[in-house]
Order: sequence, then structure tokens, then C-alpha cells
Amino acid sequence: MEIGALQRVESDEAGRLAAAAGKGHGAAGTHEAKADRLDAMASLVRRQLGLLGENPERAGLRRTPERVAAALGFLTRGYEQDVRAVVGNGVFEEAHENMVLVRDIELYSLCEHHMLPFFGKAHIAYIPDRRILGLSKLPRIVDVFARRLQVQERLTDEIADAIMDVLAPRGVGVVIEAQHLCMMMRGVEKQNSRTVTSAMRGVFRDCPMTREEFLRLVQ
Ligand code: ZN
Repeated sequence: MEIGALQRVESDEAGRLAAAAGKGHGAAGTHEAKADRLDAMASLVRRQLGLLGENPERAGLRRTPERVAAALGFLTRGYEQDVRAVVGNGVFEEAHENMVLVRDIELYSLCEHHMLPFFGKAHIAYIPDRRILGLSKLPRIVDVFARRLQVQERLTDEIADAIMDVLAPRGVGVVIEAQHLCMMMRGVEKQNSRTVTSAMRGVFRDCPMTREEFLRLVQ
């Protein structure tokens, strides 16, 4: 295919995808818009396979574009989720005043620079102010933000801010330790490196003893 035609095909597909995405995201998204978006994504993957030098029609790859499109939809479903909806009525009045800590929350995300996975654990603590959060809600809040294209630093901040927003506790601490396949499989190939990020809000930021207690508990 000559270059002009190639660019035309690319801009057609990009336009179709953008149109489908515009219709498909948010509360107004319909099943049809979602199906259009998956179709457009699958045809991009089919082209991508060709550009990689593969034959998209060979038996093993024939259904791959649809599978990749579905997988990407699942891995980025956080765009269609909202923290308040996820928390629902999982906030309870409670006089408890000590630190609540949930360690080792499994986390899978995609780095926005390479669209390759990064994965690891989140540790989240907060000090309540007359309200506590149902414990199962913390992993779900992590997922709302992890299931998007991310950088680990922003993911950490977004989780902390969301908990501050939805619960208004006296403070929140979030630590994420993760391994990035874009570092492990390519480029520097630092296979055992872990990236650690933290976000401190309220008393976790202002009170060194609280912060130290949290950091000691997650080590
Ligand atoms: Zn990356």
C-alpha cells in the first residue's frame, strides 16, 4: 500500500474510533456505541498485526483482534466507573478513632507511556472522623483508578484524593509498590526493580508520628 492510502486508512479508523469513543463513554453510553467501539478497536488491532509482519488471517490470530479489544475494554473499564457509585452506601457512622489499614491490595494497571502492564500492591490507611468505609470498598476504589491508562504517581494521588473526598477522614496514606513490564521487558531491563510511591493527606501529611506508624506497618 502506498503511503497516501495508508495515512487515509489510519485517519479514517482513528476518526471512527474517536466517534465511537465519544458516544460510548460515560453514563450516556449505549450497548450499540460500545459494540461500535469494540469493532473499531478490533479492526485497529487487525491492522496492527499486519504492520508487525504477521498474517492476521492465520488460524491462531483470526479471533485475536476481538479478544484484544475485549481485554483492553476490561483493563480500562475504570473510565466508566465513578468512586461515589462504587462506594454506594458503604459508609458507616462509627466512633472508631484509630488507624484503619488494609495492606497488600492487589493492583493491575497499564502504563500510559507504553500501554504495558504494571502490577503490585497498594497499602491504604486512614484515620476516621466519625465515619468508616466498608473494607471491601478500598480495593474497589483502587480498581476505579488502576483500570485506566496510568502513571503510578498519579494513581497513588487519585486513590488518596478519592478517599478524602468520599469519606472526609482525618487523613489518608497510600503506598503503592509496583513492577513495570515496560522496564522489565524492554529498555533498561531492570527485572527486579520495584517502584514505590506514596501519597499522604491530612494527619498523615501533617503529623510525623502518624505517617511513621503507617510506614512501619506497611514495611
Ligand atoms: Zn511504561
